[in-house]
Amino acid sequence: MGILEVKGVGKRFGGLQALGNVNLSIHENTVHAIIGPNGAGKSTLLNCLVGKLMPDTGSVMFDGQSVLGRKPHEINQMGISRVFQTPEIFGDLTVMENMMIPCFAKRDGAFRMHAFESIAQERDLIAKAEKMLSDVGMLEKREMVASSMSRGDKRRLEIAMCLVQEPKLLLLDEPTAGMARADTNNTIELLKQIKAERDITIAIIEHDMHVVFSLADRITVLAQGTPLVEDTPDNIKGHPKVKEAYLGE
Ligand code: ADP
Ligand code: MG
Repeated sequence: MGILEVKGVGKRFGGLQALGNVNLSIHENTVHAIIGPNGAGKSTLLNCLVGKLMPDTGSVMFDGQSVLGRKPHEINQMGISRVFQTPEIFGDLTVMENMMIPCFAKRDGAFRMHAFESIAQERDLIAKAEKMLSDVGMLEKREMVASSMSRGDKRRLEIAMCLVQEPKLLLLDEPTAGMARADTNNTIELLKQIKAERDITIAIIEHDMHVVFSLADRITVLAQGTPLVEDTPDNIKGHPKVKEAYLGE
């Protein structure tokens, strides 16, 4: 049994069958990559896992509990955190202010500024956020306004905002999209470090094969809304169906 068990998930948008019949099992403490051409249904699948979309068919079990029908913040509280395809940080806020939002959300179930119970508790949250910023190498940027940062740093901040919630499962939708090579390599190193330092399962959607092959323990190839093959990186590299459908060889 995986920490995440997806069975028979289908999702239709009008006349378009975005997901056919997706079965996916993600095992605890692994990095599982989901790859596939544009429009394959990767983001749709992720949206079905975090309560942003309700699939038409199938089941999604996380840690033995169904996530379907739950609200995104409830699924978040179950232990799933997600980095979106387009950055979702608050540009007008500082790095530290951004970090406080998931801290409050984790504690209160939603972001409610008036919900502080005591200054001491607030201090605990600040300490936790600072520790996390330090872990991702951003502590010295804590007072920077988020919009002024590089794309790589914005991603780093988003990942820190997820990790401060201590998720069991971290979902990343194309974390290196639009990044320069140096930032991409920094992100690979950061994710390796995160994985090495804690018990966490990571599911990553990624276009950049260098990232996928650097990080993944298992790879699922999605094509036209259906998993084509699931295997280890070495086997995926040589798989004729994958070469044909995705790597374009
Ligand atoms: P990927 O992330 O693999 O590139 P998506 O999951 O974003 O693919 O999209 C899969 C298919 O579903 C695409 O054809 C896309 O245009 C379509 N699609 C995605 N979201 C919606 C939506 N909200 N409404 C209608 N069509 C959508
Ligand atoms: Mg996508």
